[in-house]
Amino acid sequence: MNDKHYVNTNNARSGDKYENVIKEIAEHKVCPFCPEHIAKYHKNPILIEGTFWLATDNMYPYKPAKNHLIFIHKTHIENISEIVGEAWAEIHKMIGQIITDRKIPGGSFLMRFGDTAFTGASVTHLHAHLIQSNPESPDYGNSGLQARVG
Ligand SMILES: [Zn+2]
Repeated sequence: MNDKHYVNTNNARSGDKYENVIKEIAEHKVCPFCPEHIAKYHKNPILIEGTFWLATDNMYPYKPAKNHLIFIHKTHIENISEIVGEAWAEIHKMIGQIITDRKIPGGSFLMRFGDTAFTGASVTHLHAHLIQSNPESPDYGNSGLQARVG
């Protein structure tokens, strides 16, 4: 019996498809970002595969994002303190490559870590977000793109 929590359904109360996906993953008791399960839960192509990270477009981008990529640590870690120096160097290089390739003039980089009760993360497996908002979208409204961080 695996009682470990790989996802936090409380942080995926969006009322849309994503909420259902997270609930299904919680029932299966698997980590959606671990190598043995990622192909089942993540259908977007891997844009860059490094030694430590995969870069890919988020399956469920925040609205209204023009670009929303995620960098998934290839092995299951949950805390920022577990990222080794070489991995920081690699993600730095990958971010630069994505910004150049996608011609991203400005964006946000977000990495939640540790106990999801304090972060707003729905998946515990460490990953980071690179998000470019889209102020021209009708969804932008008065508050723009908002991301939960706790
Ligand atoms: Zn994992």
